Amino acid sequence: MAKFFVKRDDQIMVTKGREQGKTGKILRVIPEKSQVIVEKLNIVKRHQRPNPQFGQGGIVEKEAPISISNVMLLCAKCKGAVRVGVKILKNGSKVRYCKKCDEVIDK
Ligand SMILES: [Zn+2]
Repeated sequence: MAKFFVKRDDQIMVTKGREQGKTGKILRVIPEKSQVIVEKLNIVKRHQRPNPQFGQGGIVEKEAPISISNVMLLCAKCKGAVRVGVKILKNGSKVRYCKKCDEVIDK
């Protein structure tokens, strides 16, 4: 399995499905399911029964996972969704870069 090209706090754009074209920040990566949770995207409403943890109950809004294959990284320079590559710098560290403009994403 290839390593995922996204990680927490990345800005991404959704390329397929209900939230297509929207952008957001990754809150969590779920590697075992190849999914990501993106802030304020793919919101689902859940009816919550009253219980000691949530108090009164009611409708709770929550981000549902999005498949990693349906998101692309946003490049701050291109201002769009781009393909990313990985390159190794002279000091040996691996960084992700934008394949379109060559901008290094990991600073
Ligand atoms: Zn770029």
